[in-house]
Amino acid sequence: VSESAAKLPSKILELMDGFRASKALFVASKLKIFDHLKDKGPLKAVDIADEVGTSVCGTERLLDACAALGLLEKTTQGYSNTDSANTYLTSDGEYSLHGYIIHSNDHLWPLFTNLESAVKEGSRQNHRAFGKKAEDLFKDYYHSQEVKQRFMAAMHSIAHLTARDVATAFDLSQFRSACDLGGCTGALAHELVQIYPNLKVTVFDLPEVIANTSYFQPSGQHTAQVTFVSGDFFKDNLPEADLYILSRVLHDWPDEKIHVLLSKVSAVCKPGSALLVAEIVLDEQKTHPPRAVLQSLSMTEGKQRSGSEYKQLLEKYGFTNVQIKITGNLLDAVLCIKKNPSP
Ligand code: SAM
Repeated sequence: VSESAAKLPSKILELMDGFRASKALFVASKLKIFDHLKDKGPLKAVDIADEVGTSVCGTERLLDACAALGLLEKTTQGYSNTDSANTYLTSDGEYSLHGYIIHSNDHLWPLFTNLESAVKEGSRQNHRAFGKKAEDLFKDYYHSQEVKQRFMAAMHSIAHLTARDVATAFDLSQFRSACDLGGCTGALAHELVQIYPNLKVTVFDLPEVIANTSYFQPSGQHTAQVTFVSGDFFKDNLPEADLYILSRVLHDWPDEKIHVLLSKVSAVCKPGSALLVAEIVLDEQKTHPPRAVLQSLSMTEGKQRSGSEYKQLLEKYGFTNVQIKITGNLLDAVLCIKKNPSP
């Protein structure tokens, strides 16, 4: 390597090209190229183009880009999936990220295209990205069956990948009943009952979501210990439980809504009962992990918080013994216990 090449700002160059790499991954996923290559021997570009219904020259460029990015292997016989593509990029794999990738392409990409306006105006850019203002983040996702299914699949893929680490971040074996508020497809609930066979979990979510959960249910042991209840956690009574869970819920909402929700949870929680929060916990400088910091740029009305901010927030609503576990996975865990009322 020449002296001037060694001095090149590799990090900056990588970021400059990052959007091309992301879009290549998104398009290959959208065209289900990794599904076509799964369990098949190497295939030539012309055969893949034929199966997918795309141009040969465009497909060849995309396949080469995927090979350059380490997603595919290319030999003289053609292209095949890497192990990682087989595990994470095929749409039906247990740990598939396909749902989240499609959500990134169809929803986050248009929002991030308008990042400059988002920063100038300090607000979410739904009107520019999708031609209409978002009333509520979720009403927006659930207005069509297709968008709802896509959003639920995106949530499911991350929840499934993180569920074990969230469920085992603390020993929850003392609890008999849990309620996962905004628990969506039940991915975390199902993991919890596998790990704690004496636990029953109620998944509480909006009616539109609950009506659509059957597609995501696993088969196997203990699945009957998971039940679904529909309702609005800002308005309706919350099911009784000795452990409440808020996974990726608090970061979505502005302070006024969090006030309503945490007041309700605190009121229904008996002393000694607990609340488990799963979020990405920022470091105290709020610059790490970058994933959380970048997620903030989509400018929902909520925000990402540091460990001390979660502690302060939870203590404000009558919780104590706030413990934080950085899991190293895509979500961290915070556990706190409802205080005895002061005498
Ligand atoms: N807890 C899941 C996870 O970690 O994968 C899903 C997180 S998702 C970002 C937020 C969830 O909160 C969605 O499933 C959404 O439908 C639900 N939600 C939003 N508003 C709600 C409300 N008012 N009442 C109940 N659930 C709500």
